[in-house]
Amino acid sequence: MPAADAPRPPCQAQRRDGQPCGGVAGPSGYCFAHDPELAARRKEGNRQGGQNKDTTRRLTKLVPSRLKPVLETLFTALDEVHAGDLEPRQATAMAALASAIGRLYETAQLEERLLKLEEVHREQTG
Ligand SMILES: [Zn+2]
Repeated sequence: MPAADAPRPPCQAQRRDGQPCGGVAGPSGYCFAHDPELAARRKEGNRQGGQNKDTTRRLTKLVPSRLKPVLETLFTALDEVHAGDLEPRQATAMAALASAIGRLYETAQLEERLLKLEEVHREQTG
């Protein structure tokens, strides 16, 4: 009987630079980023595991539709950095751009809410 607390073997995959992944392997012998089955499901765009969770669904709804593909790209980049398929500095640049876009949207949303409030205030005060 295998001990429940036996140390998990490391992921069998190699990173793009030839170094061993070093991630913690699941039952497949690979980490979540290198697991061929999980990778196939990701490729199909199947993120139901996450999206079916109420919180994730609620939060994703709040993301403006124009930004949803950006969110998907960031999730993919996260997996790719972990798998060694994406240069961390590329991911850093992506994160900075995404953050800048997010701030612009935030400002635009606040501006819209302010305009609505001013409109209501004008109607009420004449
Ligand atoms: Zn791995």
